[in-house]
Amino acid sequence: MIPAIDDSLRIIELEQNYVAHNYHPLPVVLARGEGVYLWDVNGKRYFDFLSAYSAVNQGHCHPRIIEALVRQAQTLTLTSRAFYSDQLGECARFVCDYFGYDRVLLMNTGAEANETALKLVRKWGYQVKGIPPNEAIIVAVQRNFHGRTLAVISASTDPVATANFGPFMPGYEVIPYNDLKALGEALKNPNVCGFWVEPIQGEAGVFVPEDGYLARAQELCDQYGVLLMMDEVQTGIGRTGKLLASDHENVHPDILILGKALSGGVYPVSAVLASDEIMLTIGPGEHGSTFGGNPLACTVTMAALKVIEEEKLIENAARMGEIFRQRMNAIRSKTDVLKAVRGKGLLNAIDIRETEDGRTAWDLCLALRDNGLLAKPTHGDKIRFAPPLVITEEQMHECCAIIENTIIAFGEGSNWPKK
Ligand code: PLP
Repeated sequence: MIPAIDDSLRIIELEQNYVAHNYHPLPVVLARGEGVYLWDVNGKRYFDFLSAYSAVNQGHCHPRIIEALVRQAQTLTLTSRAFYSDQLGECARFVCDYFGYDRVLLMNTGAEANETALKLVRKWGYQVKGIPPNEAIIVAVQRNFHGRTLAVISASTDPVATANFGPFMPGYEVIPYNDLKALGEALKNPNVCGFWVEPIQGEAGVFVPEDGYLARAQELCDQYGVLLMMDEVQTGIGRTGKLLASDHENVHPDILILGKALSGGVYPVSAVLASDEIMLTIGPGEHGSTFGGNPLACTVTMAALKVIEEEKLIENAARMGEIFRQRMNAIRSKTDVLKAVRGKGLLNAIDIRETEDGRTAWDLCLALRDNGLLAKPTHGDKIRFAPPLVITEEQMHECCAIIENTIIAFGEGSNWPKK
């Protein structure tokens, strides 16, 4: 049944009245997705340029991932880890081979995977590095985003994430991002067990560090006997035009943290990968999750990773990203609304200058929505553009034209928002 035109207003009101106000969604009510497209309850089609914060790299409702989900859902969904399941070992071997690690610990969300990494690095710090009890330090960076749990936000420098949630977990030293001198200094403390970092800061607004930052960070970590903990929850699985963003600098993190696109956006799956030396510091009962590594998650993960490889989505992300940034940079010469363009592969962002009459990046996203493309501002003036990696060249050009027309009209203010 096609819902009535005003159904979206009714649905938005339902959320407003019954859902916690922990998000501020763009007003569009989605009902269906396929590939790069989403449809709202009234049947209007949009290009998805957020991909559920890079969880839907393989495109919405990818038939092969859905087929795996349905098949396994009809067979066995959850055993808990109280027993063995016929999927976990196979999935673990597949994932370890895929990313080049000895062992994996499967969880559900990105925040949980980061929590897991924090526990793991501390355990290693005490058991292997020999840090005195309760004195382990993890070095984090400013503007980080690793999720919303208490241990994770304890290292956050974003007041929106932290205000009125204290007291916070001790044991962090926070240094500036992209600052190797500060890192070198911080790692001199013998109680440091880990350096926790995103290879590109996605949530902060797609900040790409200088070339060589990650490689030099790894060298410094090796020099001081500190584990490099790389949060690739948003950047991983092809998003930046390599399997991992770390691959741009041939860095192999000691602890790799994954989530989001690990399941192609059909089921919450996250993972931490590490060597035997690190992973085997955790014993039975010391960490876990009822749903972590369940048969459904395992089947879906294997299908989602096969799609990335077999459909050559990494190569496509690299190529489409070049086209996108080239076209965005061309727009900069036509209007001063567009302040900056940055990114790698298909993880990109633009900065928007507020118009004289006070219209912001939020208003631009409303206009983009009206013109058939969905994106969401972050931190005020930044808009992240991260379409599914299945986007074709033709679709990419169509989307760039939508963005260009919308931005130019936005700057002129005359025919804005464009109908
Ligand atoms: N780490 C990074 C780098 C992220 O971008 C995110 C989410 O955007 C997370 C962790 C948290 O993931 P989740 O929302 O699944 O907990």
